[in-house]
Amino acid sequence: MYQRLARAWAFCVLVLACCAVAQARDLPQIVIVATGGTIAGAGASAVNSASYQAAKVPVDKLLASVPEISTIARVRGEQAFQIASESFTNEHLLTLARKVAELAARGDVDGIVVTHGTDTLEETAFFLNLTVHTAKPIVVVGSMRPGTALSADGALNLYDAVAVAGEPTARAKGVLVVMDDCIWSGRDVAKTINIRTDAFQSPWGPLGMIVEGKSYWFRAPVKRHTTESEFDIARIVTLPRVDIGYGSGNANGDAFKAFAAAGAKAVVNAGTGNGSVSADVVPVLQQLTSQGVTVVRSSRVVGGGFVIRNAEQPDDKYGWVAAHDLNPQKARILTMLGLTVTSDPVQLQRMFWEY
Ligand code: GLU
Repeated sequence: MYQRLARAWAFCVLVLACCAVAQARDLPQIVIVATGGTIAGAGASAVNSASYQAAKVPVDKLLASVPEISTIARVRGEQAFQIASESFTNEHLLTLARKVAELAARGDVDGIVVTHGTDTLEETAFFLNLTVHTAKPIVVVGSMRPGTALSADGALNLYDAVAVAGEPTARAKGVLVVMDDCIWSGRDVAKTINIRTDAFQSPWGPLGMIVEGKSYWFRAPVKRHTTESEFDIARIVTLPRVDIGYGSGNANGDAFKAFAAAGAKAVVNAGTGNGSVSADVVPVLQQLTSQGVTVVRSSRVVGGGFVIRNAEQPDDKYGWVAAHDLNPQKARILTMLGLTVTSDPVQLQRMFWEY
């Protein structure tokens, strides 16, 4: 009798174990590529939501701090860098994009999450969006408060990012950014304030929401990205130097002259309003164009600059490029990639319409 009971018990345990294994096998396989930032930050006390050290917590510890993730995905972490994102260089962009592309090409990877400081997150997301040829979800995520702070936002953001990365419906939508319950296109999302958890916004709104691990989509990007992009990280060896000059009252062209003298192949004018250029700066930029330096007009207007070609400045006549709705830092990314293909302003302008 006792033996029969023991056998039945062992059988039940075996069935349960098999179910658990089968269930785990069904979970998507996600790789977390960690680069640092506040999501890996630590402060001296729980009230330090703004003064703390970014890039302190290693990826495995970060993952262990959100055990709920193991119920929605099979995850593993890779520590790419451990830096604050304001220190991202072009080399970091290239290294990260190569790593993400390599992971995306693997059969045992369904999606990728990149943890990142929020300062330049929008630049990296756009760069990956333009250079990694995959339909698999790539989600870039950060946090506005370190994990040690009261009401820290990193744990939920990371959980949400993994959930989106494991979602078949997130495929082929370009590189995504998940922050504060929203799913954004990496193309046009930007950090708009540095002290609130709803810091990331796009003039064109989020693509969807992520609530309790479930994605709700409302729109999809129409611009070229990932598999449809003419840029491919597999073919890019280096990136040309592109610098940004800021427009304001009393502006002069000294910074632009210095950038060109230091070897810039293009300069982005973070102009006022419609990418306007002050009367003192116009001749400097004309001179740079005649020297072969590409000039891109973007707008410094926060949260919705919209530069129209041949408005404010005769772009056709001067051979300049209008950045359209891309903010100056995103315009820098596209200009660098464009220059790996051509320096023809007509072709570069086409890229600014298409991407
Ligand atoms: N400045 C740091 C960085 O970008 C922290 C900002 C953040 O992650 O919110 O990595």
